[in-house]
Amino acid sequence: MNDTACDVSVVSCTDYEPARVRSALEELIARVGGLDWVRPGMRVGIKANLVSAMTPDCAATTHPALIDALAAMLRERGAIPVVGDSPGGLYNAAHLNKVYAVSGIDGTCAERNRDFSTREIALPEAKVCKTAAVTGWLLDCDEIINFAKLKSHGMMGLSAAAKNLFGTIPGTMKPEYHFRFPNPADFADMLVDLDEFWKPRLHLVDAVVAMEGNGPTAGTPKHLGCLLAGENPHRIDLICTGLIGLDPGTVPTLLAAWERGLCPKRREEITVDGDWQAFKAGDFKTITQRSGLQFQNAMGGGRRGALYSKFLSRALAARPGVEKRECVGCRKCEQVCPAKAITMKRGKPLIERATCIRCFCCQEFCPKGAMKVRRPPLARILVR
Ligand code: SF4
Ligand code: SF4
Repeated sequence: MNDTACDVSVVSCTDYEPARVRSALEELIARVGGLDWVRPGMRVGIKANLVSAMTPDCAATTHPALIDALAAMLRERGAIPVVGDSPGGLYNAAHLNKVYAVSGIDGTCAERNRDFSTREIALPEAKVCKTAAVTGWLLDCDEIINFAKLKSHGMMGLSAAAKNLFGTIPGTMKPEYHFRFPNPADFADMLVDLDEFWKPRLHLVDAVVAMEGNGPTAGTPKHLGCLLAGENPHRIDLICTGLIGLDPGTVPTLLAAWERGLCPKRREEITVDGDWQAFKAGDFKTITQRSGLQFQNAMGGGRRGALYSKFLSRALAARPGVEKRECVGCRKCEQVCPAKAITMKRGKPLIERATCIRCFCCQEFCPKGAMKVRRPPLARILVR
């Protein structure tokens, strides 16, 4: 970052009209140091959010107009932009070709990733994830730009810059990571480990139309009209929580980043170029998770606090629940559940509570949005 650049840049982008997108993206990136680091012949990986084969109007994926504009800017500097992601499910050409076509990525001037190899890496500096199996294509890129979508998220509360790099784990292996890190705090530490390993040159967030409610795939599009950029994903995410009215203390990746000193706790300590408050959506429907630490603090800390914390965080934790009228009995949730906690009874999923690790994969991959994030009534009363 140059001396005059800020931590986070926020610019207005009212819609996805190509000329407006290009001009907004140029301004956005210039404020965080520009693209002078791009060299001719450089392979620049654009890690988009292509969570599923969903059309751009669903607001689940990074909008293709943004990918196209960014790729054009990189091409003008002689670089080779390559876009990709690893959604849940099979990580192969057939699945990704469908995702590229439906999400509009096929219509962009970026090269689509066709390398579906998986490689083992060591992360000696990691806190919890010392080894990982990752998508090979990004390892072959000279630089990475992380282009996320702002969404609510069942397990992590927020899907924005930090969460987006979970897409560097091949889709078929994601359940294994949910098993390795079943606790949201550990899962968040794993995500921060991945962020620190990949260290994208630039993080961008598409918040032109975000997703609220039952995110990250079955929520509702919500217009915010802005784009965010920066070099530190957690600082961007902290501003994102302000945009959607989410308590940052409920976002496990931010808690993990705070503990490692990667991000200040207060938004006032971040230098922001742009009036981000002008894009706040006061009525954004968030998914709020509460960590054991918060309960412990509420109970005054100490051993007694820790015991209450353990009990309360289990008793009050959000869980998946099926809306039977919306369920078509396709069994996708049963297939993706890493804990094998779902069985089908009379054509509808039945979740075994004791086995469920609350990863919300079933909610994320339900094609009908029938699997919801449910908070127990007591949690709704006690924790607002
Ligand atoms: S994935 Fe959704 S629609 Fe399919 S069986 Fe599960 S809850 Fe029902
Ligand atoms: S039931 Fe859903 S939330 Fe629970 S372990 Fe299975 S996929 Fe994860």
